[in-house]
Amino acid sequence: MTLPKNIASLAIDAQPTFCEGGGLGVAGGHAIMPKINQIRSQTEKGYWTQDWHPAGHSSFASTHGRAPFTTASMINGQIVADGTPGAYTQKLWTDHGIQGTAEAELHPDLVVRAGDMVVKKGTNPLIDSYSCVFENDKVTHPRFPNGNSVTDQLRTDGIDTVVVSGIALDVCVRDGACDLRDEGFRVVVVLDATAAITPEGQAATLDLFKKKGVEVTTLDQLASYFNPPSVTAAPRGPVNDP
Ligand SMILES: [Zn+2]
Repeated sequence: MTLPKNIASLAIDAQPTFCEGGGLGVAGGHAIMPKINQIRSQTEKGYWTQDWHPAGHSSFASTHGRAPFTTASMINGQIVADGTPGAYTQKLWTDHGIQGTAEAELHPDLVVRAGDMVVKKGTNPLIDSYSCVFENDKVTHPRFPNGNSVTDQLRTDGIDTVVVSGIALDVCVRDGACDLRDEGFRVVVVLDATAAITPEGQAATLDLFKKKGVEVTTLDQLASYFNPPSVTAAPRGPVNDP
């Protein structure tokens, strides 16, 4: 551990289902796992999120016989006509993160330490959950096995700063980081320990982070990011007595 103990690691959806070959594979997913381990090794506390959907989840295109990566208007997990009052827009994904499948487990390359906490999200078949703070209804919370929301648990543990990594930068990392910032946490995203679905999505996410005050750094800068080298005072000349 090199970072002060008010700073914790939070790795978002570091699961094979979001890596190359997974149900919703993101390029560069497998390669970030050692970097997530390096972040984790620098903090006292570590938190992990896990996308954990029942089969036939309402966010899956296959559930509705639709094409993936399209959008649909929905109310309570059911597709309704566009323009229906009260409807929200849901992006329809390929099947991913299905409870009980090997690819929905945390990535086998990760070093999860004793005492680390894992919050599962997307467990309600009718509501998607990108952010680990709020489900997509922006009302209900994903919860740790002890019943705490992520923000309650972080505050209980004395954490005011989170170092965020994971997949996908332009969906679940984005929403989790922004919600944590809105809740008053200092949020630092380690960009090279994330993977984005598209370059356009990454660019839009970085713009949003700037607006929200979500900070961005890289793994090799992490330690010095929180402990900048102190500025050395200029050497003084001899004091001349008058
Ligand atoms: Zn999902």
